[in-house]
Amino acid sequence: MRRALTVAFLALIVLWSVSALADDGSTNEHAPDPNNRYDRIAEQQRELLAPGVSAVMNRGIFGITDTGQTFAYADGSVVLSRAQVQLYVDADPSVGPVLVRLVLAHEYAHVGQAIRYGTFPSASWSRDDVLVREAQADILGSGWLMAELMSDNQDFVNNSPILPAMELMFQLGDGEFAYAHPTNEQRRQAVRFGMAYGTLRFWMIGFQNAQLTPELHRGAAGIIASLSPRLDITGADGEEWDWSLRQARKIVHWRIEGLPFTAESNVQTSPDKSNFIYSITYSNHGAKAIPLDLSVQSVRYAAGVPHDGRISELDASKRYRIVVPANSSQTIFGSIARDSSLGWEPELIFPPDPRSLYCLDEEQTK
Ligand SMILES: [Zn+2]
Repeated sequence: MRRALTVAFLALIVLWSVSALADDGSTNEHAPDPNNRYDRIAEQQRELLAPGVSAVMNRGIFGITDTGQTFAYADGSVVLSRAQVQLYVDADPSVGPVLVRLVLAHEYAHVGQAIRYGTFPSASWSRDDVLVREAQADILGSGWLMAELMSDNQDFVNNSPILPAMELMFQLGDGEFAYAHPTNEQRRQAVRFGMAYGTLRFWMIGFQNAQLTPELHRGAAGIIASLSPRLDITGADGEEWDWSLRQARKIVHWRIEGLPFTAESNVQTSPDKSNFIYSITYSNHGAKAIPLDLSVQSVRYAAGVPHDGRISELDASKRYRIVVPANSSQTIFGSIARDSSLGWEPELIFPPDPRSLYCLDEEQTK
């Protein structure tokens, strides 16, 4: 069933048949080789990541394998593919180490899932259930990494290694995410959610711990006030798990193959350029009515960084709750404020645009 995967395959692979590997010695994972450059980089990145990940998740053995696949185990162990590390580091030495940390953080998120939900995804699960857990691992992993990177560098907002790292991951991995992980664009969306969440988490922790200068305290209050409603998160303990699972469902279910949905839009700018005027038609090609809960957002993006959830501003949002009958369509019409001041790029976004931080709720397709 599982597709053969090449060594060049850059997906963050987790093999779910975990139990056999622990005892029988039939695999060739082993401790990192201190003489191997890539093993040293992997080990170093693991140590750098460790403070941002729970001690429980990071208690296990860290190993290296030559099989070309990366594994997570329920006991907290992660075994990393040396070939994968080598590929990342060689492709771009400046972002390679960050990519290694992103892989590790994704794997630790799988460990966390096993602890929280009592199981790894299994072969008996439906494909989209597996994809949801993978998207959740991308959200949580990139969120933890983001918070960790921001802790490393207070000027991180203007000097972000994770952006080029993410671009490289998707560029190198293009078209190779066919079975076990979501599509490239879904993963990009998941990482954007994670980055925005990680940013929020970093500032919330600083806020709660009052470790900020008065100036930073004001900045943190602004970021928390702006990002929290966009992400629909309060920062409460444990919320990240329910929230990330919800976001992962939205990402995967909207995009999943065979979902009988399309969206067509007509967006114009008012003559004085102060408003977007839009009509969006959601069509249901299936035999079952589907309720939608979605938001249309007017957002400004800083030029050149459309994937960075932090470097954007939400100007206005309108929420719609509609039911699209079977084999039918529903159109929403509206206008919404548009701000192009200070050279920012205003855009209207709505599901299923991957940049839409408010996705649609679509639980009925489960
Ligand atoms: Zn995974």
